[in-house]
Amino acid sequence: MRTPIVAGNWKMHKTVAQAVELTRSLRRALVDVSGVEVVLCPPFTALAATREAIGPAKIGLGSQDMHFEEQGAFTGEVSPSMVAELCQFVILGHSERRQYFGETDAGDNKKARAARAHNLTPIICVGENLDQNRAGETAAWVGGQVRSAFEGISPEDASRVVIAYEPIWAIGTGLAAEPAEVNQIIGVSIRGTLSDIFGETVAQSIRVQYGGSVKPDNVAAFAIQPEIDGALVGGASLKSDRFVELVKAFTP
Ligand code: PEP
Repeated sequence: MRTPIVAGNWKMHKTVAQAVELTRSLRRALVDVSGVEVVLCPPFTALAATREAIGPAKIGLGSQDMHFEEQGAFTGEVSPSMVAELCQFVILGHSERRQYFGETDAGDNKKARAARAHNLTPIICVGENLDQNRAGETAAWVGGQVRSAFEGISPEDASRVVIAYEPIWAIGTGLAAEPAEVNQIIGVSIRGTLSDIFGETVAQSIRVQYGGSVKPDNVAAFAIQPEIDGALVGGASLKSDRFVELVKAFTP
């Protein structure tokens, strides 16, 4: 059995004070919730304060990116050990990073390996754009992204990776993908590819989230799909009551 995991990607939102307020509110609301892992991913500037606000609560912390090098002249970047000082998770290869900051599959694979070397759990984002979707290229594209992401990663480390299947056309658009189609893509293209690489046992152990306009009014349909192990949430993670509803939907 895979423990569902729901992560909030706050993107470039929340000052330190706002991050602390949201975290405190989530902590109170989630105190009795169990059986689902919750992860908050604030901007770098709010990581330390969010960690403090989480305190002893069972809520994970993740950064939204990191560099793969250990240190050096990389102005503006943050290293794996810096992230690991504060976080247990790191989002890698989000489509906004790929689209606006030139991230590539090869670079994200280096980041994934660096993350595992620092005992961080990478949440690796994959997903097709609208043209690829319309052209029927989703399965091949997503399978290829998964292959690149796991290059050089051991089966033991692979089990500790989380994948977020996020069709680019569904992110922030209000147009979520069809839950049954997502279930099929994860089962065939993502878990099928993982099974080719690592075998069925490891493939079955890797958690795969769905991301793309998940909201309180559509979350139940995703949560009942057997291949969907949680959600990566943007917009609806910025308000405590909405995010709590999403977390609760994935409780067993
Ligand atoms: C995301 O940015 O990963 C995301 C899924 O955003 P939203 O929930 O706003 O579509």
